[in-house]
Amino acid sequence: MEMLIRRGFLWQSFEIYGGMAGFIDYAPLGNNLRRKIENIWREFFVIGERVAEIDTPLIGVEEVFIASGHATSFVDTAIECQKCGRVYRADHYVKEKLNLEVDASIDAIKEVMEVYELKCECGGNFGEPFPMNLMFSTKIGAGKGKLGYLRPETAQGIFVAFRRLSNYFRDKLPFGVAQIGRAFRNEISPRQGVIRLREFNQAELEFFVHPAEKKHPKFVELEKDTLTLVDKFDKTHRITLKEAVEKGIIANEVLAYFIGKTRRFLLSIGINDDKLRFRQHKDDEKAHYATDCWDAEALMSYGWIEIVGIADRTNYDLSRHANFSKVDMSVFIPYSAPVVVKKKKAIPKMSALGPVFKAKAKKIAEALEKVEVNSDEIEVEVDGEKIKLGKEFYTIQEVEEEVSGERIVPHVIEPSFGLDRITYTVLEHSFDKDIVEGEERKVLRLKRKVAPIEVAVLPLLSREPFTIKALEIVDLLRKSGFYTDYDDSGSIGRRYRRFDEIGTPFCITVDHQTFEDETVTIRDRDTTKQVRVKISELERVLKDLIRSDRSIEEFGEIFR
Ligand code: AMP
Repeated sequence: MEMLIRRGFLWQSFEIYGGMAGFIDYAPLGNNLRRKIENIWREFFVIGERVAEIDTPLIGVEEVFIASGHATSFVDTAIECQKCGRVYRADHYVKEKLNLEVDASIDAIKEVMEVYELKCECGGNFGEPFPMNLMFSTKIGAGKGKLGYLRPETAQGIFVAFRRLSNYFRDKLPFGVAQIGRAFRNEISPRQGVIRLREFNQAELEFFVHPAEKKHPKFVELEKDTLTLVDKFDKTHRITLKEAVEKGIIANEVLAYFIGKTRRFLLSIGINDDKLRFRQHKDDEKAHYATDCWDAEALMSYGWIEIVGIADRTNYDLSRHANFSKVDMSVFIPYSAPVVVKKKKAIPKMSALGPVFKAKAKKIAEALEKVEVNSDEIEVEVDGEKIKLGKEFYTIQEVEEEVSGERIVPHVIEPSFGLDRITYTVLEHSFDKDIVEGEERKVLRLKRKVAPIEVAVLPLLSREPFTIKALEIVDLLRKSGFYTDYDDSGSIGRRYRRFDEIGTPFCITVDHQTFEDETVTIRDRDTTKQVRVKISELERVLKDLIRSDRSIEEFGEIFR
């Protein structure tokens, strides 16, 4: 963290006013790194799939979160010290002080507090545990206004636009919708630096599938990948995705596909496979909407931390929004060929309906004609009134009908990525120390494609004509689209170290020979080896190097 702050990756927000837990600034290097990770995410989860990306408001009207369940269920249990007034998230405090996993219900917390006589760090007693909703509320408009919430996840913006989205995809499943953006959670006591934020960045994909066909057309591409799974009984498996589905460890192929794809994405941005596992939620741990849920967890200095949640949310969200909005959220799925089905229809008996229902009889008869008979008693709705009708009001006739398809409410598989945690994991997993020329060196071994500064241009000596030539090259590289920095302060060795520390993969040096033959040296961060290339070749060589894992030796003779 000291290095990240000093070098300009992350800063405490509102620092001059004392800061506030749960908020961070992305400083120039951190911002660039996160943006690059976002773009690679897009390549994997938008461009590489039948997926479209949208962007919806950060503020949602109250109705959205009543329907989604967040207004009632998105709560943590808090405990407040009666002496010093500090408030803690109860389950985290119990874990920290007693090393106990406890479910976060008020009753469970109460019991632990009594049994272990839990006290505050100051020695004070806690009051009764109480629930706290994690959404930030706000008022939309003037006067009394309207209640709104800052979104606690980007997903709801997708679910509420589902009708339009489904049309956009010509009502053909499966399809996915992605959103990258801020989410807000009023975390009770965020004490883990950048891990638990009150305003953070999510990249979410909602992949809509037919409930009876939880398959992914490209599963074969990933099925042989071997990974570490920890199931809900805490059993660890080193297993291929295919086996995991066959043995029923992962509930379905779509979940398995996105677990595999998530792993490939995380490895491609530089997360270490040995420090990555997928852990299944226990039955009492799952979110209010999920049936099966897996977290990608990375091992870092904070322990194993969830960086991605991959959940089967079934049709929970769409059904809830359909109920609350009264808008149909189903999709019509045509059969390959129409099928003929036998149905029982009710034929109204006007002679019986008339005397009993009088003026309403006609409307009841019309409603009856639309009903399919499944039981002895039929209920129809007329002008908002529900009316039960016994057998005396109709006769039953069996008819054959051609049915061309069915209406279903799609299920959704959701991989939800916390970009801040992922960015931080990339930094931790890239951080390394080695010995160069008898001295310890700190180096960020970032993948070339995510490095915030891709190339640094350094004049060997801090004077003309070296500086002028180096600045010409800076200009050239910037015009070619490279994130380029220039540095002429201090010895060349110190400057190399500076760029090693921020993970810049290549340093270009202008030296005496440059003025003889229009060449410069390229130094590789990881090996510290150098090759000499023509300035006119520089752009092409750097493009090749940054796009790939190729060694600089392929582009010239190593001279160091
Ligand atoms: P969830 O919807 O809780 O499964 O969150 C999805 C992802 O968002 C998690 O895997 C985390 O990486 C990330 N996340 C959740 N809460 C926070 C937070 N308070 N601060 C930073 N990232 C978070």
